[in-house]
Amino acid sequence: MTAQTYGSAGVAVTWVEGAEGGPFGPHHLPYGVFSTRKDPQPRVGARIGDYVLDLRGLASGPFFMPWIRHAFHAHDLGEFMAAGPPAWRTVRLQLIEMLLDGRYAAQYRHLLVPLSDVRLHLPFPVADYVDFYSSEHHAANLGRMFRPDSEPLLPNWKRLPVGYHGRSGTVVASGTAIRRPAGQRRADGGIVFGPSRRLDIEAEVGFVVGVGTELGEPVRTDEFADRVFGVFLVNDWSARDIQAWEYQPLGPFLGKSFATSISHWVTPLEALAWARTEAPEQDPAPLDYLKESDRFAYDLTLSVALNGAEVSRPTFADMYWTPAQQLAHMTANGASLRTGDLFASGTVSGPERGTWGSLQELTWAGRDPIGLPDGSERTFLEDGDTVAISATAPGPDGAVIGLGEVVGTVL
Ligand code: MN
Repeated sequence: MTAQTYGSAGVAVTWVEGAEGGPFGPHHLPYGVFSTRKDPQPRVGARIGDYVLDLRGLASGPFFMPWIRHAFHAHDLGEFMAAGPPAWRTVRLQLIEMLLDGRYAAQYRHLLVPLSDVRLHLPFPVADYVDFYSSEHHAANLGRMFRPDSEPLLPNWKRLPVGYHGRSGTVVASGTAIRRPAGQRRADGGIVFGPSRRLDIEAEVGFVVGVGTELGEPVRTDEFADRVFGVFLVNDWSARDIQAWEYQPLGPFLGKSFATSISHWVTPLEALAWARTEAPEQDPAPLDYLKESDRFAYDLTLSVALNGAEVSRPTFADMYWTPAQQLAHMTANGASLRTGDLFASGTVSGPERGTWGSLQELTWAGRDPIGLPDGSERTFLEDGDTVAISATAPGPDGAVIGLGEVVGTVL
């Protein structure tokens, strides 16, 4: 194997300049959808370093097996996601091998498009969208704020992953501007209609279903990796004043449905193999359909930046309910899955203030403003504010994998 290029540790390294050792190295390879000024047709790519590898271009030659090529002539990730784990694994292994073998550099270098030359799109058509509420710290914080005189957690919280059905049609790609929503809220003892005054964020981790199911067919916790294609970041924008007035007794509605942003790059589950860690123990023990033979969490550290200043570093590993349990629960009644179903973790909040994933918590419902480097203070978002959520995970050989960013500016 003399054609491979080797790093100082004797391990094969990629021939793509600047990619080795970075957050988008050859063992990460998230998928996304891009276009260029010259070719405005959206197409599928894989990110390597500061380049997008054009998979449509690669699928136009003999590189991929014939049975998978059609998926990369589509305008989004849908067909590839629906092809299932054998296709995901084969393509990923082929790409890694090619990017680590210098013999391919001359042949395929022209398919690397600099990130600065591309426009990124929503990576897949969103089918159904479910949002959970699975951080014990977040749920307890909100319980303390809204029900100071009772137990922070409601009796059902440790028995099932609480969630709601969101609005898939308003899931938008990172970078889409967010118009401040209007709605009903309480004001001075009355009810008014107008722009939200308590516009907030929720830093979350999202999962997308690749392989669907038939109606009436529950998914077991141990089928998670057979169904779920990958991981990305979510900002579940929330108008707290609209939400507080409308949510009883049926839950979140217009305070959430105006927009949900997701990051451009979908990290394959296999790229998070190094990030697997122990999930918190559950007490009481969950019912059988929520038990996991191999219970694990993903060790992701999120970063929430407001106008460029980091205001929080939420930790994902201590979420009480895992994505495998969420998937099992949302199908336990026989509800079917479709390719493109998105489910999000719920606000990711760790144990301390610097790890909370919403302004509602960081400012304790507006009581304790946070200071920004420009000397200004925030309780909730002001017009023109930009929120960016990013995340890192442990990668191979001590490297770090970076999940894409989800960014949005309030209009
Ligand atoms: Mn949420």
